[in-house]
Amino acid sequence: MPWFNAMTSFEDFYIACPCCSAWLIGKKTKADSVNQSVLYSDGMIINDLIPANPQKIVLCPACGYLFWLQPDACHNSISDSEKLTAYTWPSWRFFGCNLLDNNGRIALINHYWNALKLLRPISVEQEIIIRKSLLWAYNDLYRDADAWKFVDVVRGRINFFYWIISRKFSRKGRVLFESEKPRFETNLLRLIEILEQDANAEPAIIAEFYRELGDFRMAAQFLSKIVRRTHFINLLNSQIQLGDKSVFKVAG
Ligand SMILES: [Zn+2]
Repeated sequence: MPWFNAMTSFEDFYIACPCCSAWLIGKKTKADSVNQSVLYSDGMIINDLIPANPQKIVLCPACGYLFWLQPDACHNSISDSEKLTAYTWPSWRFFGCNLLDNNGRIALINHYWNALKLLRPISVEQEIIIRKSLLWAYNDLYRDADAWKFVDVVRGRINFFYWIISRKFSRKGRVLFESEKPRFETNLLRLIEILEQDANAEPAIIAEFYRELGDFRMAAQFLSKIVRRTHFINLLNSQIQLGDKSVFKVAG
């Protein structure tokens, strides 16, 4: 699957590492260039196959320093000479992990676990950011697993050999997800614990996290607190009734 859609356009921004002052080049999507936005039940948004949720933690590719990306640290331009030595986006985006590879996806998960240990002190909001990123990274192991079906080969949408490779890749991702289950659950339980102490937390999100944990009784209990029925709530309810804990596509 192509990672970049030709229709999406980007603009550059620049950040300086707070430790070694190296310049890092980042890219952000121009909002008006997005054609298709996909929302998943875990809150992840993908615009034209590119994750839209902004990266908040950066591992400096020059010195290995891990830091929170503050919005005011982003510059719109730097000098041409600084651009010559600046680090490219792929060198630090998602900690440099290749998310088109299952090993890269596991590496991203490990980076988030390390961030939880290394970034101290940490506020509740920051812990939520890391743990949600961790949840998305886990779900990424199988999120697009059903993207291509055999019928797509029959209809000529994809090449047969590409379909075989993609199916093998997806199955490996599922196996890795299952092998990571204890840590996946530890993360979800902590997220739920934090959100249950927050009076402003949305019951739908807590219900979704309980569902992904496989605790359908608690998921239904939180869902029953919601009066207003939306498309998402209806879908969530049917997945809970089915006893399905996989992440699902809400819209797009
Ligand atoms: Zn640095």
